[in-house]
Amino acid sequence: PDRASVAYFGAGPSALPTSVLETAAASLINHNGSGLSLVEQSHRSALSGQILQNAKDSFLKIINATADTHTVLFMAGGGTLQFSAVVYNLFTAWALRNPERAQNGERGACEYLITGGWSSKAADEAKRLIGEENVNVVLDSRGYHHAGEAKKFGNIPDSGEWKNNLKAGKDSAFVYFCDNETVDGVEFPKGSPVDVLGEDPDRIIVADMSSNILSRTFDASKFGVVFAGAQKNVGSTGVTIVLLRNDILSLLASGGSLPPKLTPLIPVTPVMMHYPTISKAGSLYNTLPIFDVYIAGLTLTKLLQRDESGKTALEQQEAESDLKAKLIYDVLDKYENIYRVVPAKNVRSRMNICFRISAPGDEAKFIKGGEEIGLLGLKGHRSVGGIRISNYNAVGVDSVKKLVQYLEEYAKGI
Ligand code: PLP
Repeated sequence: PDRASVAYFGAGPSALPTSVLETAAASLINHNGSGLSLVEQSHRSALSGQILQNAKDSFLKIINATADTHTVLFMAGGGTLQFSAVVYNLFTAWALRNPERAQNGERGACEYLITGGWSSKAADEAKRLIGEENVNVVLDSRGYHHAGEAKKFGNIPDSGEWKNNLKAGKDSAFVYFCDNETVDGVEFPKGSPVDVLGEDPDRIIVADMSSNILSRTFDASKFGVVFAGAQKNVGSTGVTIVLLRNDILSLLASGGSLPPKLTPLIPVTPVMMHYPTISKAGSLYNTLPIFDVYIAGLTLTKLLQRDESGKTALEQQEAESDLKAKLIYDVLDKYENIYRVVPAKNVRSRMNICFRISAPGDEAKFIKGGEEIGLLGLKGHRSVGGIRISNYNAVGVDSVKKLVQYLEEYAKGI
């Protein structure tokens, strides 16, 4: 089939705008008439520098932040590298903030809200790197499944249930959450849990926004670190965007390499994860895949081009994301005797819509029927099964409408 006849709902790598791919395809052969492919150009050339700068500037503009307060890094290693990088850097940052307490053997707690498979993995990595005794699991939402399935994710309890498990900000290295759990289809409602975590200004908030970044507005000033692999809403696989608040970066940079007395009690951050090193090198400490940064930049520029009404580009994107998600959930709810949405209503993800079809064999039949009419990428993650519709930014309203029609027809045909 040709591209125009399929709609792709894969969870990541995911759909990209066709116009972005067309420009990137031309650049793969001959970038802007230079006679060279972009993948042949030095990452240190002026051209690569411009591509990087454009991507950083566009990103900051979209999220309504500036270089005065925030630094954008492009790093390799995916979201998964950030599971480790966050721990190394911020565990160290606590020691830099509290040198006397650190010398006396105290450590800042690395605190986690576990609401799905990805935050669970991130917490496991923290335990592996710095030991369970330094990790505080504030919440593990497996015990709160709305349909009573004890071991499964699918709900986020009210903050009253977990707030008291938080350490005081001065004793905490950071508190981490995953804004949208891609596998489980669970997303924090907008503004939450930052409203609660931010009550103590000493607390550094870290968010994994890999699968919902640029799908709604957020207040960057409230976060110490935000990271997102590009391969869902921003671009292609290969680069991860890391947004750092400058005061945290300065604190880390002030440490240089750690004071000798603290090592080896505090693990030394491997250089490719050391935020000040990557920042000082302008994301070019080593050979960065500039082609992937280019694709990200094209996608970001395209998103910015929407800005023509009174609303910002991201506000417009948010309205579209909400609309597409609503169209899908409405039909799932209409046929709730056939489709069972996995997560509880108030934490349903707008990006990864996970549901089950009850009778045995029905899910395979549904997926196959979809493929036959060009609706691709509907299979749920291998760890949980079921159906997952990923509704990222590049999925058009038309594609969603086609899918909604199929959901209607499938339900009626049963
Ligand atoms: N965090 C979230 C929310 C994800 O969805 C993923 C991947 O899908 C990751 C982290 C891991 O990202 P990567 O595969 O880029 O390491």
